[in-house]
Amino acid sequence: ASHGGSIKATLFPGDGIGPEIAESVKQIFDAVQVQVEWDIHFVGKTVDPKTGSFITWDSMESVRQCGIGLKGPMATPIGKGHKSLNLTLRKELGLYANVRPCLSIPGYKTRYDNVDLVTIRENTEGEYSGLEHQVVKGVVESLKIITRTASKRVAEYAFHYAKLHGRKRVSAIHKANIMKKTDGLFLQCCREVAEKYPDLVYEEVIIDNCCMMLVKNPGLFDVLCMPNLYGDIISDLCAGLIGGLGLTPSGNIGDNGLALMEAVHGTAPDIAGKNLANPTAILLSSVMMLQHLKMTEPADMIHKSILKTIAEGKYRTGDLGGSATCTDYTKALIDNLGK
Ligand code: NAD
Repeated sequence: ASHGGSIKATLFPGDGIGPEIAESVKQIFDAVQVQVEWDIHFVGKTVDPKTGSFITWDSMESVRQCGIGLKGPMATPIGKGHKSLNLTLRKELGLYANVRPCLSIPGYKTRYDNVDLVTIRENTEGEYSGLEHQVVKGVVESLKIITRTASKRVAEYAFHYAKLHGRKRVSAIHKANIMKKTDGLFLQCCREVAEKYPDLVYEEVIIDNCCMMLVKNPGLFDVLCMPNLYGDIISDLCAGLIGGLGLTPSGNIGDNGLALMEAVHGTAPDIAGKNLANPTAILLSSVMMLQHLKMTEPADMIHKSILKTIAEGKYRTGDLGGSATCTDYTKALIDNLGK
């Protein structure tokens, strides 16, 4: 939402290292003079009866009104009688697609230097529908729901994303040889959308083969579109290819352009409050947020500075084998802006 010339966006600093890495985002946005005004929200201390979760109705309203948000990691509260935080956000905000770009970071050595792919995961159904029950003692049943509406919606987003970002190929990942009806319908929807994008190469890859291809040569893939559970697994596999969760951003996409970007990692309780966290994942998520808002100039500036700083190797946080604190690294990023 536009607000006095600048964009208003919801910021959930989150728990654990969340506030430290969110501070890094705020400082860099200030240094680049990004026209974004943050509406800051924390997870509540009690369950809000309106959401049934520790995430308050006010916070939800903020994202709905702004239409855009950035989220740090949130600690899962212990005890019964409340809904999962991430599930609440997903359901209440209708975030139907999860997008994770996985890009090799030059200078940070991993098994491959050429990873540049994007996973797009259906976020609302499949095995995650939560429909499980006991049939008789010793026999349980789980319903995997696949609908045309949800499959079509995520496929449309995957192709739209591929075209917008100058990607060449979309691979639908499936197990339709066994799950003939459910994954079959998912594939059918992908095919229908593919017909509308003749400039993009469309292929279908069986999930087990996809795993083998990814670990042997990730360069074979570009944009991967898949149902919920496969996306959960493949997206973590891909994060592993570029050096782990501390470097991986993600975006959750809803209707009418609504988007909530978030770091993939958790609250890192072992290093929280010690100024040791790596803010790269949330910073790259903020870059995705700026790209989504079509603010490409500040997005590129921040992205380039991250790549340059890590490649130089002088200021790296502990998880990347360096000894820089979160604030040292943030300062180095600010020094490298525009260089
Ligand atoms: P974690 O990601 O918090 O930590 C795993 C390991 O990675 C730890 O050693 C941690 O120090 C390290 N690490 C993670 N992010 C890092 C960063 N940015 N910089 C440097 N090191 C980093 O996973 P966990 O320990 O399984 O989970 C801890 C808490 O986080 C739990 O309450 C869990 O529910 C929550 N969690 C939240 C989200 C989310 O909000 N999206 C995701 C995962 C876990």
